Amino acid sequence: MTLTKTLSFQLDIQTKNGESRLLESRQEARKAYNRTIELAKQGTDWNKIPDIIKQEVDLVVNTTQRIVEKALEAMENYYDFDDYNLPSHNKDSPYPLRSNYTEGYNLFLSGDAIQFRISGKPYKPVKGTLEGSKRDIELVRKGLENDRWKLGTSEVIKKNGNYELHVNITDTETEVRDSSTSQTLIGVDINEDNVALTAVSENGVEDSIVIEFPEVKSERHKYHTIRNRVQESEKYSTYNAISNKEQRFVRDRVHKLSRTIVDWASQFDPPCIVFEDLKDMRDEINYGKRMNRRLHAMPFGLIQKYTTYKANFVGIPVVKINPEYTSQECVNCGHKSKSNRHKKRFKCQECEYQDHSDRNASINIAERGVKEYVSWNVPSLNNPPVCRTVRRKASGIVDVPTATKSNQKDLSNATLSVLTAGRSSGVKPRSSSR
Ligand SMILES: [Zn+2]
Repeated sequence: MTLTKTLSFQLDIQTKNGESRLLESRQEARKAYNRTIELAKQGTDWNKIPDIIKQEVDLVVNTTQRIVEKALEAMENYYDFDDYNLPSHNKDSPYPLRSNYTEGYNLFLSGDAIQFRISGKPYKPVKGTLEGSKRDIELVRKGLENDRWKLGTSEVIKKNGNYELHVNITDTETEVRDSSTSQTLIGVDINEDNVALTAVSENGVEDSIVIEFPEVKSERHKYHTIRNRVQESEKYSTYNAISNKEQRFVRDRVHKLSRTIVDWASQFDPPCIVFEDLKDMRDEINYGKRMNRRLHAMPFGLIQKYTTYKANFVGIPVVKINPEYTSQECVNCGHKSKSNRHKKRFKCQECEYQDHSDRNASINIAERGVKEYVSWNVPSLNNPPVCRTVRRKASGIVDVPTATKSNQKDLSNATLSVLTAGRSSGVKPRSSSR
């Protein structure tokens, strides 16, 4: 299997006037982009566009080609997918400088560090050192030393005032471990405002975590509202700008969330990630309000897709199970009922077993993974450890200072309201407003 991943680095620029050289190159890249779109709109033969742009733009030839390619891709998407999102040929901010490894940019090992050399305009290279996570630096090292890993196109962009280099790296021989060899199954329950994870091994529930991200839902709602308003006034360019902004926001958050899921799963002995099968969920309209709400509120498919990709990249298998009743079934006695669940509280009507309802669902998901994909027996799951709640923010993961013991028979209202307060703000306690 071949998998490609994008690594991000900050650029520690050591060339004099390096920043302004990069800016000039990005302005030139914008010119290449805008001109390509303009020509395409005029009906110029797409095969002829690259040669025309090469004459007009002062960039390394290969880099020009990459940018023309990107612009034509945008045109193609317009023709293929929608009728109104016509790319503009008046982009006014500098464009990402896109180039091929060894042609527009180069990387070198220098002791423990990685040096870069970026040539936007010919004969005006910018040099310096890459700064990034250990993991990403290590992958570049593999790319430089090992034939199995291939460095691909990169983009120079400016983010929050800093220059960054985004490098594609391909693992040409990714081996995803066979799911049947897994000793820990990680059940993933995706909800409107959180993702609950539970790790189940032969010994029972190893650990659980609930990752909250209230911002995705609220941002989606915000953009949705603005979009409707704009749509009414028929300002399509504003409409597109908003859609793109929302998409970037959601993708960014989903990337970080899926990274957190894979990191959490990685701490266990050969893990396997278990998702609910989205196809089954769509087919089964009868799942009712909760399922519909989840499907609408969360970029469900995107979370599964990004997580699968990142997991596979490090060899972790991902499987899917039938989602029927995962949120209504009691881990203790197997009783299934809608009334077992009241929002975030699970209380079995049959045996009175209690838990955080999303955590309970994630245990069920992991359990189905065990039944379907490995040869060991399902252990007893009715005595899980305390479930920790953390909040996923742009800056990273933050602990929410609440915890609940799952299997207390009398999970008090006090504990529950602390839980609710933690979710809403972490500061102001909200008495039970249910
Ligand atoms: Zn029960």
